[in-house]
Amino acid sequence: MIGIIEWARDLLVSRGALVEAEEAGALSALLPAELAEELESREWLSLRFGPGAGSDDENEWLDRLSRLLPPDARVVSARTRRPDLAPQIDAIDALDRGLALQNGIYRVLEDYHQTARYYFFGFNYTIESDETSFGVVTVCLNASARTLVLQPEFALKAVKDDLEEDPQLTIPRDELGQLFPIALRGVQPEIRRLAAGIEQSANRRLARDSERIDSYYKDLLSQIGKRISRRAADVEAVEKERSRANATQLDRSAKLEDLLRKYSLKTRIQPGDVLVVPLPVREISTRLIRKKAERVTKLHWNPTLGTIESPWCEGCSTPAHPLFLCDDRVHFLCKSCAALCQCCGKHFCRACRPRCKCGGS
Ligand SMILES: [Zn+2]
Ligand SMILES: [Zn+2]
Ligand SMILES: [Zn+2]
Repeated sequence: MIGIIEWARDLLVSRGALVEAEEAGALSALLPAELAEELESREWLSLRFGPGAGSDDENEWLDRLSRLLPPDARVVSARTRRPDLAPQIDAIDALDRGLALQNGIYRVLEDYHQTARYYFFGFNYTIESDETSFGVVTVCLNASARTLVLQPEFALKAVKDDLEEDPQLTIPRDELGQLFPIALRGVQPEIRRLAAGIEQSANRRLARDSERIDSYYKDLLSQIGKRISRRAADVEAVEKERSRANATQLDRSAKLEDLLRKYSLKTRIQPGDVLVVPLPVREISTRLIRKKAERVTKLHWNPTLGTIESPWCEGCSTPAHPLFLCDDRVHFLCKSCAALCQCCGKHFCRACRPRCKCGGS
């Protein structure tokens, strides 16, 4: 995940700022005059986020910086300045290590240098509870091999400094359209993981605050209770205390509800920029065999990550890692799309049909 500082840096650099220094949670930059004006900041901008005195307000800067975001996602094509060849590899060993094939065998036919078209989809997310956290999650798809890159941020970082814009590269819009839903699906688990951490700490604060409120009202109610027993003979006074107790109960529930609202999580994901870049890979032409069926496919070994990329599941588009094959048409499947039918217990492939022959799922 990229934090706010890295997000801010990328955004500022994209608008012509000169970023002078950057360290954990802080950056300083020299802004062009018009950019400073847009951000309502001095030209010499220094930001620091996180705990501690004198740090900047993340929410306020989220608002200010988001003025710089383009209204629609931008698609940028780039190329590497020094196109390298992917190194020669031991293809069988690479598949043995990286494919995690569970129910079939494979034969390597040949392997050779290839250039694959990569799409890096950036998604801006905001997770709001009593605190707001935001940043960018990247999903990387290899459109040529139809694979998902499992460490997209690492892969992007590794090639980023070596990229230059390539206005000549035409981006197939229909391919972009097909890939977008897969990328959006790919971003969900990462956002869920981030949200889970935030939810956990919000729940801790919620429990602490609820306990405080609970004990405050318990004291109030016990004092009222004492007064009632002391003045049991005075009907009017008892009645008054009773209605006071009711009002206190109502007040208590309202306060607890407020707390729940305060700490509940709201997550927003917005598509950000898309970077399209051809990168060198080692292509391994492979025959995959499942019982009597077989399929020839092209798998890509990624030189940046030093590993085979996982095909995406043809049932649900999540990474098929470990990889399962369908019995009939050798579809690539994730574990849950290859699972037995919950009703009849028989095999069925979720890429071949949405439901089992028995009607179960
Ligand atoms: Zn699946
Ligand atoms: Zn069934
Ligand atoms: Zn199938």
